[in-house]
Amino acid sequence: MSKSLHQAIQFDQQHIWHPYTSMTDPLPCYHVESAHGCEIKLSTGEHLVDGMSSWWAAIHGYNHPQLNEALHAQADKMSHVMFGGLTHQPAIEMVERLIDLAPEPLDRVFIADSGSVSVEVAIKMALQYWFSIGKPQKNQLLTIRGGYHGDTFAAMSVCDPVNGMHHMFRHALCNQRFVERPAVVFGEQWDPNSLSEIQQTLEQHHADIAAVIVEPVVQGAGGMRFYHPEYLSQLRQLCDEFGVLLIADEIATGFGRTGKLFGCDHAGIVPDIMCVGKALTGGYMTLAATLTHRKVAEAIGQGEGGGALMHGPTFMGNPLACAVASASLALIQQGEWQTQVPQIEKQLNEQLKPLANSPAVNEVRVLGAIGVVELTQPVDVARTQALFVELGVWIRPFGRLMYIMPPYCISSAQLTQLTAAISHYVTTVAN
Ligand SMILES: *Cc1c(COP(=O)(O)O)cnc(C)c1O
Repeated sequence: MSKSLHQAIQFDQQHIWHPYTSMTDPLPCYHVESAHGCEIKLSTGEHLVDGMSSWWAAIHGYNHPQLNEALHAQADKMSHVMFGGLTHQPAIEMVERLIDLAPEPLDRVFIADSGSVSVEVAIKMALQYWFSIGKPQKNQLLTIRGGYHGDTFAAMSVCDPVNGMHHMFRHALCNQRFVERPAVVFGEQWDPNSLSEIQQTLEQHHADIAAVIVEPVVQGAGGMRFYHPEYLSQLRQLCDEFGVLLIADEIATGFGRTGKLFGCDHAGIVPDIMCVGKALTGGYMTLAATLTHRKVAEAIGQGEGGGALMHGPTFMGNPLACAVASASLALIQQGEWQTQVPQIEKQLNEQLKPLANSPAVNEVRVLGAIGVVELTQPVDVARTQALFVELGVWIRPFGRLMYIMPPYCISSAQLTQLTAAISHYVTTVAN
């Protein structure tokens, strides 16, 4: 490693926080020079096949010609103008495409700056809806354990209370209602009793509950678990029966990742409020959106409280982000993901499922372009990461979970490199 590169990494360690890490005892970081297609190039020369899509986001791969073009063209016109009192074509075009893709009748859109913010906005919409129609006492949220909805405070309040960050911020968090996570996993025999707890909770407390918030079918950062879509369709019915809004957090599941365009499509349901983010810009920059239908939008608009939805970030509707998102959504509309994702799923099933026979492995789960190897023991992240870099792959495990969700454009050979690295870990290190 050159001296200046070494110094740069040292500076980083001393001065810059990375996600969920300590500043006094940080995990090592690898210095990236560039990324192209499905490969990340380190400044030390290694090329790594990307297994993470930079946390569900880079679905079309890095340095995509159409996304680059959209970004450059927009930068030459304007990078940003305030969204209060002004509007522009990148936002209008992006929202047109989003409405076209989203299930009907979700056609009212709030553009947010990150996934967590879109969850805050979704919660605000739900609370403001009930406030507007004269039921301000409906101000609690109900959710299932094992979820993850972001790092801001309202979002944190509905993350899993055990593996989320509740213990540290307990006294500052809103007190929400939790039920056990769905007992029946994806692909197993449906059990009609699965909803009895959530049904009871709704029966007893619906007068206080504004909305149920869930990640549809795939619980992501809270544990990478896949549950039966029937849970979602019956939950939709219960929400209607008890007059509670349903918020679907599609930030990880949206745009084809699970094999359907949206997670909710596995159940054929439409939520009242839906959050999208992560892959919205194809992983280029931060942008998210909260969608709802006319009934919620109009109630807020005409209701007590002046009619305005009380949110408005400085960089709302950022034209650069909207232009890239529009280009990414255009690629989704072209539909190549519909052949790519099933191919990835098939290969993940063939190459990861056999690992379930290893004593070091608890379970292997595959859905769409997501592969999860749940180990019996937690991973030593620093050591494992170094091993993976040596093997030419970028996979970042957490806890007992070794998982990949590669860009959709990954080649079969590149995907084999990812699964072979996981196999290598399971057969040599973990055993
Ligand atoms: C990542 C994620 C979020 C938070 O999005 P950020 O852009 O990181 O704020 C919320 N919900 C789900 C399901 C996510 O996967």
